[in-house]
Amino acid sequence: MPIDQNRTTKFWLSAAEILLGVGALAVLTAGGLRLDLNLGTASLAYLIVVVLFSLRGRLVPTVVLSIVAAACLDYFFTEPRFSLQIDAPQDVVAVAAFATTSSVIAGLVKRARRLGEAAALRDRLQAIIDTIPAVVWSNSRDGSADFLNQRFRDYTGHSLEWGRSWVWMDALHSDDRAMHDWRATLAAGEPFEKEARVRRADGEYRRFLLRFVPLHDKQGTIVEWYAAGTDIEDLKRAEEELRRQEVRLRDAQIELAHANRVTATGQLAASIVHEVSQPIAAALTNANAASRWLGAEPPDLEEARQALGRIVSDGSRARDVIARIRALVRRVPPRHDRLDINEEMLEVIALTRSELRRNGTSLETQLAEGLPPVQGDRIQLQQVMLNLILNAVEAMSGSSGTERKLLIRTEQDGPGGVLVAVEDSGPGIEPESSDRLFDAFYTTKLAGMGMGLSLCRSIVQAHGGRVWATANPSQGATFQFTLPVQRETV
Ligand code: ADP
Repeated sequence: MPIDQNRTTKFWLSAAEILLGVGALAVLTAGGLRLDLNLGTASLAYLIVVVLFSLRGRLVPTVVLSIVAAACLDYFFTEPRFSLQIDAPQDVVAVAAFATTSSVIAGLVKRARRLGEAAALRDRLQAIIDTIPAVVWSNSRDGSADFLNQRFRDYTGHSLEWGRSWVWMDALHSDDRAMHDWRATLAAGEPFEKEARVRRADGEYRRFLLRFVPLHDKQGTIVEWYAAGTDIEDLKRAEEELRRQEVRLRDAQIELAHANRVTATGQLAASIVHEVSQPIAAALTNANAASRWLGAEPPDLEEARQALGRIVSDGSRARDVIARIRALVRRVPPRHDRLDINEEMLEVIALTRSELRRNGTSLETQLAEGLPPVQGDRIQLQQVMLNLILNAVEAMSGSSGTERKLLIRTEQDGPGGVLVAVEDSGPGIEPESSDRLFDAFYTTKLAGMGMGLSLCRSIVQAHGGRVWATANPSQGATFQFTLPVQRETV
């Protein structure tokens, strides 16, 4: 209720009470005159009315009624009657005694009322403190407890007497007691919070968040500490479970990513066999040639040396291909390397070159020079590039008649990022499905799993980047992703 409205209501209630009281005094006076009551009896009757009205608790009506009653007593029941004059000194004393008694009684009633209200308020506050869902206690300046709420007592199974002094610390787990320097923290005089295990009555420890706030006097000295503890055990367990699930999810994702890489590499199998068998066949030819040069009369050592040199470079070529494949299909924990995105892209291109050739796809690269390094996991980022390239090749393999062109671009993306784009001349994508492409299990291929792009998205996002697809204005689709550059290079 607004304050003004409250005042008006109080005023009208007091006015009504005065009217009622004056009415009661009038009836009493009329009755008293009829019965010809003497001064003593009339005072007693008036006093009863005043006391009854003072019980209502309003000071102004009580004072007004006391004055009116004293005046009536004087006017109607004191000699000379029907005049405010008083002849006998004992009558003056009687009227004065009446006025004093009525005001003392009014004052006493009011005080009793206030005490009753204070007691009710105290009980209410006590009930609140005991019921709030927290253990609450107060400590004196030195940290010893001097109050424990009901919840604290119920939880620990201890009495208020037990909690007095530093014994309240016994409710804490010994490690938490030892871990925190409680006395020093309290001596510092600043509000603080700590996590601690608190022993329940049945002996089980549950984790609580304990908060302490000091109460200062006017001079700034700490008078008392107030503390409240919230049971965070369930929250903690839920958090721990969530963390365990996250770890399980991450493991599953690593497993899935690995499976995806193995599958993608499997797709390259034919090309890889070709890529590896070619240098092996060349090495064999060169080995035969070398042996012929050595068997000639006289042996042509220079030719033999050159043939052996070619064998070494063929061997290295085959070894490099195998090393790349092995790196991709290995299961290793994610790393945070400083990577040159162009170098990584060139490695992936080297792996897919034969596949592109096999599919009659021409490749153009526009790799920006001087790109800042990014930070991330080499294998994961190469997996993203490989997925995008293989998807593009596959998309274009279905379109006959049109030229199969792949454009791979890298460029700076603002001051803090690099962008990689894989542009194809395939069937393109419908604008409405461009978001769904990245959903897990979304595939339009008969034997597709629909996990490739979803994995690309989680990898890129885990690196702080963004991946998206757009239809090209003329033909085909562009899949691109951004990565933030390594922080100290921004
Ligand atoms: P999958 O290759 O197993 O289908 P992906 O997640 O890699 O799974 O791809 C999901 C879908 O996105 C594909 O089935 C295809 O419809 C579409 N898609 C991917 N890349 C291209 C592209 N370059 N052009 C057109 N559509 C594409």
